[in-house]
This record gives sequence, structure tokens and C-alpha cells, in this order.
Amino acid sequence: MRRDPMSTDRFKDKVVIVTGAASGIGAATARRFSAEGARVALIDRDRTNLETVAQELPPDRTTHHVVDVSDSAAVEAMVSAVVSRFGGLNVMVNNAGVHAGGAPDKITDDQWRKVMATDVDGVFFGCRAAIPHLTKTRGSIVNTASVSGTGGDWSMSPYNAAKGAVVNLTRALAMDLGKKGVRVNAICPSLTRTGMTADMMDDDKLLAEFAERIPLGRVCEPEEVAAVIAFLASEDASFMTGANVAVDGGVSASNGQPP
Ligand code: NAD
Repeated sequence: MRRDPMSTDRFKDKVVIVTGAASGIGAATARRFSAEGARVALIDRDRTNLETVAQELPPDRTTHHVVDVSDSAAVEAMVSAVVSRFGGLNVMVNNAGVHAGGAPDKITDDQWRKVMATDVDGVFFGCRAAIPHLTKTRGSIVNTASVSGTGGDWSMSPYNAAKGAVVNLTRALAMDLGKKGVRVNAICPSLTRTGMTADMMDDDKLLAEFAERIPLGRVCEPEEVAAVIAFLASEDASFMTGANVAVDGGVSASNGQPP
């Protein structure tokens, strides 16, 4: 059944988990789902910021858990706790991520493993823990990848590798889960104003260089990514699965030729 396009309660009575919810895109996503009526579980390893964001939202429809998504047992326990508290699960947003870069021959084992642990392991653990519950509700998964998952950057090899893995993991899960009624999609934002990029946002020269190369002429705001995540998770995207959706102001439309 089609919903009323004017309705603002697309997620009324739905249960949504958002990882990386203490900051940036995850915080904006938690606020968005909550504004559309969802019961939202906010997950992050940063207790202080997590509590600050969680306290903004209605207490009867909000819970939060301090979890490192690279810890599979903790992720399993968290998903079980959310399902116990709210009675099921409809949407899993695997958004927590970290970034590391540098010349490829200077990347340390530690840098490599930290990016893989959160950005790849964390996304897989979140998906795996959610699947049994999502098959019961015919729910959906949205994974936060990046434009860095569909093309190379200079000196960001761990991040490029990790986000590429998220894009293809999303496709693989879409294959396996489609006939069970579970949709799995990824979003690929370009440079977005968040905690991860705070240093860059203070650099006017760098921002101007980015703006020059982005067809829409500016960086992305976290709320603009959250809106697309909510769309993909909603019935409005009922025939979308396995997609990686660019939220990039047109960056990926370019063939790289100079102006
Ligand atoms: P952010 O730093 O503002 O937020 C990321 C959150 O994830 C933080 O609250 C952090 O504590 C949490 N986190 C990190 N590792 C974790 C772990 N192991 N367990 C639990 N929580 C953890 O950054 P953001 O830009 O909002 O990033 C959200 C996602 O968007 C990431 O996956 C990132 O790679 C992706 N992304 C960001 C941009 C950008 O330009 N900001 C662009 C494309 C994709």
C-alpha cells in the first residue's frame, strides 16, 4: 500500500538502529528517523557525545548503547537488547566509520587494522546481527560507504579499500536477502560537514578548492545524507536493493577532466 506522500510519520512504530550516532551523519540520521516517528537506538563508542544526542530525542522512543562496532559479541548483545526493549527491528543503519590516510608505503599495520575493524568488520557485524530480526519484519539495511568506495583518492588507501568493501558487501547481502524480503543499500556521500572533517571545514582555501570541483559548488551537510538514508530505509524505496546511492553534489558525474 502506498503511503500518503504528505505524511511525516513514515517510521511510526518502526524500530531503527543507527551506529555512529554520536556525531555527524549518524546523529543527523537518528534525529531524522525520530522526527519521522521511529523508535531509535543510538549506538556509538563515544559515551559523552552519544548521551548528548540521545537526550535531545523523546525518552519513550529512544535508547542508546555504548558499543564498539568492531566487537562482534558486543554488537550481537546490543541488537538483542534493542529487540527486547522495542519488540523487533525494522531498520539497521551501519554508519560508524573512521578514516586514515597517508602515502601507501607509510601506512602502519595499526592504521590499516583500525580502519578495517570499524569500517568493514563493524558494518558486517551489524548486518549479521540484524539479519534474523529483519527477516521477521521484512526490514532494511543501509550502510554508509563513501565516494571513496567507488573511486580512488590520493593517499587514502585504507579508507578506499574499506569503503569499496562496504559497497560490494552491500551488493552481496542484497543478493542473499532479497527473496527474504530484506533490502540492503549503501550511500556514498562526498565531503560532508561532520566531526570527521572538522579540520577541513576550518580551512577556507581547501573548502574553496573542493567547492570548485563539486558541480553543486559546496560541501554536503549531514542532514542531506540523513534524508537519503531515511528514503532508502522507507517503503518509498521498496524496489531498491543492492544500490550504492551517491549523495555527492555531482562529484561522481565527472570523468575527471579539468574544466
Ligand atoms: P563523525 O566522526 O562525525 O562520526 C562518526 C561516529 O562514529 C563518531 O561518533 C565515532 O565515535 C563513531 N565511531 C567510530 N568508530 C566507532 C566504533 N568502532 N564503534 C562505534 N562507534 C564508532 O563522522 P561522519 O562523517 O559522520 O561519519 C559517518 C560515516 O560517514 C562514516 O562511515 C564515514 O566514513 C562516512 N562518510 C563521511 C564523509 C564525510 O565527509 N564526513 C564522507 C563520506 C562518508
